[in-house]
Amino acid sequence: MIDLGTFERVVFFTGAGISVESGIPTYRGSGGVWAAYDYRQYACQEAFLRDPDKVWEFHEVRRRRVGACEPNPGHRAIAAFQERRPATRVVTQNIDGLHARAGATDVIELHGSLWRLRCERCGSVEPSTDVPLPSRKHACGAWYRPDIVWFGDALSRATIDAALAAISACDALVAVGTSAVVYPAAELPLVARRRGARLIEVNPEETPLSDAYDVHLRGKAGDVLPELVASVVGAT
Ligand code: NAD
Repeated sequence: MIDLGTFERVVFFTGAGISVESGIPTYRGSGGVWAAYDYRQYACQEAFLRDPDKVWEFHEVRRRRVGACEPNPGHRAIAAFQERRPATRVVTQNIDGLHARAGATDVIELHGSLWRLRCERCGSVEPSTDVPLPSRKHACGAWYRPDIVWFGDALSRATIDAALAAISACDALVAVGTSAVVYPAAELPLVARRRGARLIEVNPEETPLSDAYDVHLRGKAGDVLPELVASVVGAT
């Protein structure tokens, strides 16, 4: 096993696969949420403008289900590593908040968070873990929407810049549980590679970007990550 302790600035770049062992299905494949629901009805701005209550009902179900899930040993291994090595950054495509609940800090959430609300009119953003919401409307009278990147939405420039800054400065990037097909997120590991960082892939399966990685750790995040960080964190 490669020794992560030999690197100064590590980025963990995570996708839906890291949360599978917490009970949150990926979007693709059987059991995935978009196999059962049509995103055009529930997860795009057009749907929200058509019927905000319907979109909120869907997201309240997601908030209830995700809120009942716990971080798994993969999330905890990353948080423990970051605690000992504060230069570590976590960049995630996930919206579930499980990295922060495991204790990770300054998590860069490329696709937003299920646990933040954004006012449609004034754009103000606030944290919220209430399910159901006490109100689906902001004090200014306009609708809240979940502060997540829906299909067709642009990613926030500031968030991409923060991810690029972390990734450009790292000397090792560990990609965990991402199929590397969602752009622009999928390109980010290649930025690290061009800067000379070592690329490590943690995934039970090959991905379209596997060839770009130096090291492949084929297994589940909850099994592989505690071992990967053990030289710094100790056995967990
Ligand atoms: P994806 O669904 O395209 O791919 C998931 C990857 O995880 C696959 O390559 C799969 O082989 C791998 N995987 C499955 N089980 C794993 C495990 N136990 N350990 C490690 N890897 C495992 O996910 P993506 O690349 O993240 O892209 C989908 C988009 O949808 C992203 O924006 C994603 O974050 C979002 N999404 C988020 C959540 C969440 O917040 N938990 C859930 C579903 C989808």
